[in-house]
This record gives sequence, structure tokens and C-alpha cells, in this order.
Amino acid sequence: MSEPVFQRLALIGIGLIGASIALATRRAGLAGHIAVTSRTAATLARAEELKLGDSYHGEPAAATRDADCVILCAPVGASGAIAEAIAPALKPGAIVSDVGSVKAAVITAVQPHIPEGVHFVPAHPVAGTEYSGPDAGFAELFDGRWTILTPPAGSDPAAVARLTRLWQGLGANVEVMAAEHHDLVLAITSHVPHLIAYNIVGTAAHLETVTRSEVMKFAAGGFRDFTRIAASDPTMWRDVFLNNREAVLEMLGRFMEDLTALQRMIRYSEGDKLFDLFTRTREIRRGIIAAGQETAVPDFGRPHGKPDEPRT
Ligand code: NAP
Repeated sequence: MSEPVFQRLALIGIGLIGASIALATRRAGLAGHIAVTSRTAATLARAEELKLGDSYHGEPAAATRDADCVILCAPVGASGAIAEAIAPALKPGAIVSDVGSVKAAVITAVQPHIPEGVHFVPAHPVAGTEYSGPDAGFAELFDGRWTILTPPAGSDPAAVARLTRLWQGLGANVEVMAAEHHDLVLAITSHVPHLIAYNIVGTAAHLETVTRSEVMKFAAGGFRDFTRIAASDPTMWRDVFLNNREAVLEMLGRFMEDLTALQRMIRYSEGDKLFDLFTRTREIRRGIIAAGQETAVPDFGRPHGKPDEPRT
């Protein structure tokens, strides 16, 4: 058990990420008290059944009162409205943070509501699953993963250091970078891959020459891995694309140029070029495994002989 980093931690939203923060905070004893709120009474009641917090509040401002750290754990499109709702309840010296997958747009939406004397340190844990809601949370989600902090220029270094201690206590490695750089990096490592998955699964669903049952039956040929990503939360991902528009469009442009080049290689039977590219891409996967961000177990660690079970 660590020394508590915060006396009262307020979680505004208690889905996959909020619940995982609650469980990992408790695991390491990082907060004296965890105050939980959610938009709907049903999610809040479920969080209470799961004993994720120490107190449960119908209003975000009530959870925020007296908190020395408040983390917004809702879809990024809701960030501005939540910041406005909690602003009057924030105590001087408190740290406001978030977990949004997009950073520049969240800063634009939240910063204007942060009162004088309160520190805003945005964050993004680069860890997740395709499941949502409080039941999806688990304490190990952040272990060995990266959390990126994007403090705006002029942020209090002590507040950044304190939030860093929290995330390290939750199991994560921490890196600090500018919000705009974060958005560009995540556009290629996360946002565009999700868009490709949504697109290919959508295309397969529209095909008339291949029956749906054949798509299901032969999914192990590669399609299956896209379906996992394409099962991700629709609200969260709608908000990601609407709030990281420029960076996603920039990376998508590059992607489409490269796809056209691949199309030409196939059309003109340029086997050597295909082979060279596939050799280089293989190296990228080896690099990710070497960096501890993926397992080398064959077939992505899937158990064989029985269907995949949802992670709880
Ligand atoms: P989630 O499981 O769907 O939970 C969302 C939470 O936000 C719930 O408590 C929900 O409340 C609340 N909420 C939804 N819409 C709201 C609104 N309009 N106003 C206020 N509260 C609202 O989502 P999540 O996966 O934890 O994602 C939360 C944040 O983490 C997002 O910003 C996402 O970008 C970021 N993130 C996600 C992942 C991932 O893999 N999922 C990874 C890293 C970061 P009710 O259930 O009561 O409606």
C-alpha cells in the first residue's frame, strides 16, 4: 500500500475507465475517499453494488465538493458541460484532470471553466477494452501501459508531479507531451485504426456476394480482429472523431495515399514491393512486443478449443 496521494478523489463518470481507476486506486491505497457520480441513476446504483466508491452522488458538484482531485471519466463531448457544472464546487488548490482520448479539444472545452487557484492537468491512459460501463472495469487495466499527461503551458509543476504519482500508483508509466502532439500520435496509433475497423466491418456487413453466415464462419482469417475493435463504444468513438477532426483527417489522407500505392502494387504484380512492405510491418509488431505492449503468444493469446470469453 502506498501513502494516499489524495484525500478525496472524485470520479465524474464510472464506466470502464472510471471503474478501473476506482479499483486500482483502492488496490494501492492512493486515496482516502473515492466519491463517485454518474449521469444516470442506473449506472450509479450499479457502481454502488460493485462497491467502487466510498460515497455516491447524483450530482457531479456534490461529488466534487471538498475533493483535492477530480477526474472527468465521461465521453470527451461532455467535458465542457461537466466542467461548467463542477466549477462552483471546486476547492482552491484542487486538481482537475480527465481521461479523454482527445486532448486539445478537451482543453478548449474545460479550461475556461477552471476557477483561479485550481489546477487543470489533462491526461489520457492509453489502455482500454471494447467493453463499457462499471462492470467492465478492472484494477489491472493500467498496469504497464502508458498514461500521457498534456499540461497546458504555465501549469503548476507540483500539480503535474502529484498527478504523475497517482498514475504511477495506478500501475501506469507516465509521459508528458503537448496536447496537439498527443492528438497527432493517437490519430495514427488509435483513432485511424478504429476507423479502419469500423469501415471494414461495415463493408463486410453490406456485401451481397458473401453471405453473413460465411463472414461469421470464416472470421478467423483476419476479420475477427477487426470486429473486436469495431465493437468499441459508439458514443465514445463518435466523440473522438468529432473532437480530433484535423489530426484524423491528416492521417487518413496519408493512409489513403499509401493504400492507393498498395493497390497499384497488386494491380501491376509488384511482388517485391509488397514483400518489402510486409517485412517492414512485421518488424513493427516485434517492436511492440519488445516494448511490453503486446504478448507474443500465437493468435494474440486467444484460448483455442473454446470461444473467446468476454473480459470482466
Ligand atoms: P463508458 O464505459 O461508456 O462510461 C462512460 C461514463 O460517462 C458513464 O458513467 C456515463 O454515465 C457517463 N456519461 C456518458 N455520457 C455522458 C454525458 N453526456 N454527460 C455526463 N456523463 C456521461 O466510457 P469509458 O470507456 O469509461 O470512457 C470514458 C472516457 O475515457 C472517454 O472520454 C474516453 O475517450 C476515455 N478513454 C476510453 C478508453 C476505452 O478504451 N474505453 C481508453 C482510454 C480513454 P451513465 O452510464 O450514467 O450514462
